[in-house]
Amino acid sequence: MKAMVYLWQKKNGEVEARFSVDWEACERMEITREDGRTVCWLREPMPLGIAEESCRLFNFAGKRGDSRTPDQRAMSLRQSAESAWDAAGEKGVSVLVTSRSEGEREKNAEWRKANETEWEVLSAAAEQAGACLQGRSLLREEAMAMLAKALPTLREREPLQALQLSALRGAVRLAAAIAPRAAGSAGSRRRQGLRCRRCGSGEERMRRTRCASCGRSGCAVCEACAALGRSRECELLVLGAEQPGTALAALPPAFEDRWGLSPAQRSAAEAAYRFLRAVGEAPASIAVEPCQPLACSQHLATQALRLLRRMLASLALTSGRSSHADHPARSFLLWAVTGAGKTEMIFPLLDAVLRAGGRALIATPRRDVVLELAPRLLKAFPDVRQAVLYGGSEDRWTNAPLTIATTHQLMRFQHSFDLVLVDELDAFPYHNDPVLHYAADKARRRHGATVLLSATPPAKLRQRIRRGQAGCARVPVRYHRHPLPVPQRLSLPPLSKLVQRRELPRALLAPITVSVRRGAQVFVFVPYIKHVLPVVGLLRRAAPALGIRTEEIAGTYSSDPERASKVQDFRQKKLRLLVTTTILERGVTIPKSDVFILGAHQSTFDDASLVQMAGRAGRSADDPFGRVYFGSPYLTLSQRQACRQIRAMNRMARRRGYLRQEGERA
Ligand SMILES: [Zn+2]
Ligand SMILES: [Zn+2]
Repeated sequence: MKAMVYLWQKKNGEVEARFSVDWEACERMEITREDGRTVCWLREPMPLGIAEESCRLFNFAGKRGDSRTPDQRAMSLRQSAESAWDAAGEKGVSVLVTSRSEGEREKNAEWRKANETEWEVLSAAAEQAGACLQGRSLLREEAMAMLAKALPTLREREPLQALQLSALRGAVRLAAAIAPRAAGSAGSRRRQGLRCRRCGSGEERMRRTRCASCGRSGCAVCEACAALGRSRECELLVLGAEQPGTALAALPPAFEDRWGLSPAQRSAAEAAYRFLRAVGEAPASIAVEPCQPLACSQHLATQALRLLRRMLASLALTSGRSSHADHPARSFLLWAVTGAGKTEMIFPLLDAVLRAGGRALIATPRRDVVLELAPRLLKAFPDVRQAVLYGGSEDRWTNAPLTIATTHQLMRFQHSFDLVLVDELDAFPYHNDPVLHYAADKARRRHGATVLLSATPPAKLRQRIRRGQAGCARVPVRYHRHPLPVPQRLSLPPLSKLVQRRELPRALLAPITVSVRRGAQVFVFVPYIKHVLPVVGLLRRAAPALGIRTEEIAGTYSSDPERASKVQDFRQKKLRLLVTTTILERGVTIPKSDVFILGAHQSTFDDASLVQMAGRAGRSADDPFGRVYFGSPYLTLSQRQACRQIRAMNRMARRRGYLRQEGERA
């Protein structure tokens, strides 16, 4: 969209450049003489990002005492606008300035007399708009939809006018969805390129297209968050004020355990709870317990590093840069093995925050998990209002103390939640994607906390924990208190060879037969979609030898139209053996199952996905000793690391006395 750029003289005489997405609202604001007057404006509206940059340039020049005469100011505004066009890659654009005449002012005063009621309605709407957009970060259309729902009596242009008025009064902030590229050397954003304000992506994720909205031929659009509506250089981003919440420091000293947590779950939940309170107590400087005790010199080095970071962060703040870079101590990892029962562990945290009047968000990558979690949380917290958010959900514009959302939806919030819980932070679609971290940090209130949940945290995060830059508690044992099954190795030729030979070796068929005989269902993971059907064919040929019927064997993959029904059949035991790819590495839990990973040496299987796939076995208390096999011609680093992680967790569980003793009853 386009915006008008104008100079506004405040009552104290200071002059600043502003941009307006609704000129009429600004004119009316002037008519009411709320806080100053318009001096002059650029005759033509400009693409929003360029308008914003023009204002920044003008205001930067006047920062240290503005002694410019009115004519010099008009000239400076023109030059700022021309530099902003230039920085956006549009050379030689010239702009014209129009000054406000006294005659017009009188005309406006007459208008005001005639439209007193209309103005009051708009004024009240602006106030409501500011309140309803708190904690949000929305594109123009989204904000309009939200306002239309909250203020159904507004007509046509009125929501935008209310928004503009609300911005003039400081209740919301209007900005270009993509932070413009800084012009010249003025100001702190020198040499900084375009940056998406919604998802944090830089210029490398932008594409330039012809834009009907601003008329430019190269208006940048962010590809990284395009699934959630287009964030453009000329698109308006509406940023609400911070949501009111609670003070985490004021939480009671201990949480109430109404959920019968196991000792391992309880100990980890307590560590996370201590972290919440500590974050609240010392917002700017908090020491978090590292996972491993640090040696003294290392500790000092970490402290020094932390101090340096804080200094840098405060520099970034004073220079007016908005930084969502995560403060190291604001996030905490609950590193819980697959099947540890992590949902129960977050209940006490949610309970404490919600009871204190705070707001909490649970973000998870998959929509089906959102839909599964919502009723469980409703049962646990029957008196708490929920907003359940995913693509196309009804609750899209609902504000509720407890929000359960797909990770994408995080981008629609800013400074909104006291507690942000991010489930499976390493899973698709945000595997190692900085967008998730940016969005999770942005959604959190300034004094809030983030708790990350994962069975397989990414290497970068593990490193930060080792350095004491993020807190961590491990849950090394499953809820049923039996150790994790350790993968065994099957020496097999590469899958392509097996497919060529049209026969599966005994080395593979024998252990599968054992699984079938013991009544287990079998996951067979293959690295690529192209392997699924051939392997299904080979297994079906071997079905009589395995002792099952051919129709009890099936295969599925991401683009399989029958995927949902096949998974359903597998859950209902209609299928005994399911061949699949990493799409089923999480989420599908079968009580009695064994896992065969074929082609385990392939690079599609990193240590995290090997651990996740192995984690499908032995989930149930009735069958805690599932069997896991890595089938490959040789061992890779990923396979070794996966086994090492699993063994380390089992050792830790044993050392801490979490494992069930022989003969001990459930
Ligand atoms: Zn983006
Ligand atoms: Zn545009």
